[in-house]
Amino acid sequence: MEFELWWLLGIPVFFGLGWVAARVDIRQLVSESRTLPRGYFKGLNFLLNEQPDKAIDAFIEIVRMDPETADMHFALGNLFRRRGETERAIRVHQNLLSRPDLPQEQKEHAQYELGMDYLKAGLLDRAEETFNAMVSGQYAVQARRALLEIFQREKEWPRAIEAALGLQESGAGSRQKEIAQFYCELAQDALVHMHPEEALPLLDKSLQADRVNVRATMLSGDAQLAQGDVEGALLTWRRVEQISVPHTALVAQRMMDAYRKVGRPQEGVNLLKSYLEQASSIDLIEVVYKAVLELDGVDAAKQLVSNELRRTPTLLGLDKLLEARLMDAPANLVPELSMVKNLVHGYTQKLARYQCSHCGFKARQFYWQCPGCSRWETYPPRRTEELNVMN
Ligand SMILES: [Zn+2]
Repeated sequence: MEFELWWLLGIPVFFGLGWVAARVDIRQLVSESRTLPRGYFKGLNFLLNEQPDKAIDAFIEIVRMDPETADMHFALGNLFRRRGETERAIRVHQNLLSRPDLPQEQKEHAQYELGMDYLKAGLLDRAEETFNAMVSGQYAVQARRALLEIFQREKEWPRAIEAALGLQESGAGSRQKEIAQFYCELAQDALVHMHPEEALPLLDKSLQADRVNVRATMLSGDAQLAQGDVEGALLTWRRVEQISVPHTALVAQRMMDAYRKVGRPQEGVNLLKSYLEQASSIDLIEVVYKAVLELDGVDAAKQLVSNELRRTPTLLGLDKLLEARLMDAPANLVPELSMVKNLVHGYTQKLARYQCSHCGFKARQFYWQCPGCSRWETYPPRRTEELNVMN
């Protein structure tokens, strides 16, 4: 390509354009900043120097003089709340609310934010009071949602049911799954206090809300068992397989115990084995393994875990196989096998967790409500290692 000298003329022109653009920006910035109150910069300076309390004072001073700065307060309050500095967030929002000339719309907004501050700070009574006063305004749905969260935290299940129904009626989506779980909580309480007759109608309501609720089905069986109806309990627990085969791992132990109780353990083993064929599960193997060992002896138990390990190669399965091998290993092999078994077992402790599919919270026991994110039914009934292998 041929170079022409006049191209060089373009360079100063570009510089010139850049300079003009920069000046325009700076002028605009200067004119905008003149419209901001001086206290704003004072407050910002305190904030940047990590003196948040002084910053709040400065900002409150501005809001007194200039109502337009309310949005800034909301931003500041939310920032504090997110950082866990709830006392400061409360102060910001309370100050905003104390202004007599605050427009109604912003007043409701500030009230809602204050309620959220209380909730985050764990001041549930105050949060409840704040949100209760808001269930008819423009923040009605948000307030109801917050109330639902409060009742769950307080384990006030009847009120949680009421709040969930209210939310549903206001068109905020279906809450049937949660309502079913709230009835299960009530039923479980009744079962703990040895009142199966109270638990059963609650579980019926739970299943009316969510027909495929595994927990309600399991608890219904428990209630029948508590009333001495073992056959009835078995029939009910068998319904779990129709809802979700992997969840049968959660009822396997009680089913096996019940089959022993009615004198038909072999029937129980065969049924659980059929579940195992449909959905490989380390929890299910654990139950079937013990039963097979008891009914058919060591060789059959060894064969079972060996087959399962081939099908789903996990360390948890290997741990089980080593346990089976150790039972009739020749004496000279026992020390070595024990060593390997202990080593593998040490590793599997970390892999044998349940994990929330929403927030990833890991737990040793199975939860219907995640302790991490408080969502319902987010735990798959499988151990983390199995999930990894399956993916
Ligand atoms: Zn979670």
